Amino acid sequence: MKARGFLVVLSGPSGAGKNTLLSAVLPRIPDLKYSVSATTRPPRPGEKHGVDYYFLQDDEFQEMIDRGEFLEWAEFAGYRYGTPRRFVEECLAQGLTVITDIDIQGARQIKQRMPDGVFVFLLPPSFEELEKRLHKRGTDSAEAIGRRLKIALEEVAAIVDYDYWILNRDLEEACEQLVAIIRAERARVSRTDLSTLPL
Ligand code: 5GP
Repeated sequence: MKARGFLVVLSGPSGAGKNTLLSAVLPRIPDLKYSVSATTRPPRPGEKHGVDYYFLQDDEFQEMIDRGEFLEWAEFAGYRYGTPRRFVEECLAQGLTVITDIDIQGARQIKQRMPDGVFVFLLPPSFEELEKRLHKRGTDSAEAIGRRLKIALEEVAAIVDYDYWILNRDLEEACEQLVAIIRAERARVSRTDLSTLPL
């Protein structure tokens, strides 16, 4: 039987570069699957349903909560976000590694349910840079950016609950670091089916 896969949780302030990092890492690691979250936030220009998020109405999101279909869910900056349970569980059962981009509240819930998960915190090079990136992205209103910056200050304090940190000064460097973390975690003896090794 194949060893069970594991979940990698990537958190970090909005604008730290989680999406860019994920797009760079996913093609580099075979058997790494991205868990698409559900959200009640409206799509930003260019975002696609089923690719970036499952964009749901409030009542649809509530129905998923009521049916127990989320592994975790949380409210962030006025909208709800959740990780659909089934995709993650199916991948883990097949021995795959799953990566999710979730906020610190969701990460806390996952840590309780899946203590063998790997928790990674992505930091922007500086707070000033974070503010610049949020403005440059140009997809959120000034008010939304202000809200996200305020949350960012609270979020970085949660780093103490994570296993690893990555500083996103340079995309290639950050990408190598995340790849190294995932490879090292895959090589953990405790995660490995020893009958697959030449022992
Ligand atoms: P954004 O609106 O910028 O795409 O995401 C806002 C925040 O929601 C980010 O911190 C992101 O990590 C978080 N987020 C995205 N998907 C999920 C999810 O499924 N669950 C939780 N708890 N947070 C999520």
